[in-house]
Parts: sequence; structure tokens; C-alpha cells
Amino acid sequence: MGNCLFCRIVKGELPSDKVFENEEILAFHDINPVAPVHVLVIPKKHIASAMEIGEEDRTLVGGIHLAIREVARLTGVAGDGFRIVTNIGRHGQQTVPHLHYHVIGGRQLEWRF
Ligand code: AMP
Ligand code: ZN
Repeated sequence: MGNCLFCRIVKGELPSDKVFENEEILAFHDINPVAPVHVLVIPKKHIASAMEIGEEDRTLVGGIHLAIREVARLTGVAGDGFRIVTNIGRHGQQTVPHLHYHVIGGRQLEWRF
């Protein structure tokens, strides 16, 4: 996916402020944070959204959850709690069509839409 923003970050063509990385997954600070901690956790493989996850991605998705735990520890939000969000499509207000999980915390969050 040559012009996908997050694929370009994965390839190093665009900069990112990395928090965690392994062979399959990258986590970096969101450029427009909504809370003291706002990290995006993405698969290096291009998957357009959570609706495009396939059977072959079972292990990868499990790995993303383990990476999110690690990001929570590294950013200091594991103890007080945080939120994981993945937006999908138009009603979900997904703006970057590459699967990503927002890890948001560092302050008391509210729950309303
Ligand atoms: P979503 O709206 O759920 O698709 O989330 C996309 C997120 O990517 C937004 O929170 C943006 O602030 C963030 N974002 C966009 N461009 C960059 C970038 N170059 N580096 C880090 N985060 C970005
Ligand atoms: Zn991509």
C-alpha cells in the first residue's frame, strides 16, 4: 500500500515517535493526542480496518493485545487503567484506513458519544 500513511510510517518513509516495536507490530505516539497518553498500536501488515481482519490474522491480533499491555506498562497507565479504541469506517470516524488501536489514558476518561 504505497500511499497508506501508516504503511509509510512502518517503512520509515515518514517519522514517528516510537513506543514499542517487534517484528509484526509498531506503536507510536499519536500526533494529535486527546489525553496525556495517546499511542497508536498498528500491525506492520496493511489491514484496512478491524472488518478486514482475516482467519490468517488470529495470531497477529493476539500479538496486538499483548503489545497493548506492554505499551500500557511502558507509558505508566497500566495501574490506573486506560481505553483501547479502534474506529471503523464512516460512522466510526476512521480517518486512516490502516488498522490501528488507540491506547488512551493518563487522566480520568468519560464515556459518552
Ligand atoms: P482514526 O481517526 O481512528 O483513523 O485515527 C487516526 C489517528 O492517527 C488520529 O488520532 C491522528 O491524530 C493520528 N495521526 C495521523 N497522522 C499521524 C502521524 N503522522 N503520526 C502519528 N499519528 C498520526
Ligand atoms: Zn497501510
